[in-house]
Amino acid sequence: MAPSSDNDTIAAIATPLGQAGIGMVRLSGPKSREIIQKLFQPQKTRLNLETHRLYLGRLLDPADRKAVDEVLVSFMQAPHSYTREDVVEINAHSGYALLSKILSLVLNAGARLAKPGEFTFRAFKNGRIELTQAEAVMDLINAKSEKGLVLAAQQLQGRFGVELEKLRHINLEILAQIEAAIDFSEDTGDDTSIGRSLADRIEQEMIAPIADMLAGFEQRKIWLEGVKTVILGRVNVGKSSLLNQLANEERAIVTPIPGTTRDIIETFIHIAGVPFRIMDTAGFRKAKGEVEKIGLRLTQTKTQEADLILLLIDQSRALHPLDLDLLANLDKNKTMLILNKTDLPTKINPEHLQQVAGHLPLLKISALTGAGLDMLRQTLLKRVVTKEDSAADITPLVPNLRHKIALEKAGRFFQGAVANLKTQLPPEIIALDLHAGSQALAEIIGETTPEHVLEQIFSQFCIGK
Ligand code: GDP
Repeated sequence: MAPSSDNDTIAAIATPLGQAGIGMVRLSGPKSREIIQKLFQPQKTRLNLETHRLYLGRLLDPADRKAVDEVLVSFMQAPHSYTREDVVEINAHSGYALLSKILSLVLNAGARLAKPGEFTFRAFKNGRIELTQAEAVMDLINAKSEKGLVLAAQQLQGRFGVELEKLRHINLEILAQIEAAIDFSEDTGDDTSIGRSLADRIEQEMIAPIADMLAGFEQRKIWLEGVKTVILGRVNVGKSSLLNQLANEERAIVTPIPGTTRDIIETFIHIAGVPFRIMDTAGFRKAKGEVEKIGLRLTQTKTQEADLILLLIDQSRALHPLDLDLLANLDKNKTMLILNKTDLPTKINPEHLQQVAGHLPLLKISALTGAGLDMLRQTLLKRVVTKEDSAADITPLVPNLRHKIALEKAGRFFQGAVANLKTQLPPEIIALDLHAGSQALAEIIGETTPEHVLEQIFSQFCIGK
């Protein structure tokens, strides 16, 4: 985000485009109030817009003084607004043409179009929220489960930032002691005991909490993003049918012609509130045509990314070399074997199956009749949610990948400090480690985050947020 644009008044449509009851155009910046006063005619006599009040009136096109819509306008005076700047919200009827018209009037009156995430960026830049809170705004929008919403809401309140501040505070205390040791290095007779107690403190009060925070990364995947699950198997084993059963709707097109499900179909399903992001894959068979090859490649990538693989085998047919191939090659730590079509007589020899697949958890279903589906849902759930996860107060912190990388970096510096304390390296070296660790923590909340990282974060937002 270019600094030159910081003083502009920005505007955007803040609600999704399309027909809806209400749509909103939002403005933020020093000219917000002046702009709305040019365009808005309150129903009552000319009012001086007071902050945090809602005014009914008409929005006029200055070109012909004709009313564009009946609107509700609010003005939130800086610093008591989402961005800490003057903010105006125009609530109108929704509809693409209407909201675009209102936006163009606002732009003509002196605002410029906001970039993606620029409102939230301003809230961050003006110190109303720190970076993890800004990211939580996006989590809140994208959360795939109710618990995900709760976690994002906690982060939005700044819990993550508070915990990080605690760590940095402890770090400062330790640094103060180390720096005192540097100043008085000649006087300290018993260096080793001080060193040991500082090392203990770093381990218990900094490294351990960081490890706890990192544990939340897996939770984030479960509750906020959804467990990435791939349904894999040869053509016609019933992958689409299973997906439909799980999704309870005809999302994937089920067809008896081999190789028609060429693209990956993604469907979110919830089992006891846990979101599973299920990817049905292109018919997995020896690639002939180009299209199948693309499908296959996609399948392989998805398999690597997956948290869980459901390997489907049609038990009404004899095991095929490709079934055996898959059985031998898939990561057994994340694969579950599912025998489908149990409503038909089996052609699979149980001993042979035991031999080739004895190492995998096994379930039997009929995607046609729905037999075994409840058991499958329960098993999926148990695999993902341990007792700890389902406890009422699961970890309040859900670091994303960016946080995880920074936490790990900080952890490494603190571990370095401990090792160096134990081998009695000079305090200057240890202070360097602690400073670097603190720097890594500061990056998480946005204090020292490089510009390009900020840009990357906010560009993921939609325009108007
Ligand atoms: P995909 O190619 O793996 O996605 O397989 P589909 O879901 O398209 O299913 C292929 C064919 O098998 C379709 O005609 C389905 O109706 C049928 N089918 C799927 N599951 C079952 C099952 O459990 N029992 C029986 N009898 N047929 C099934």
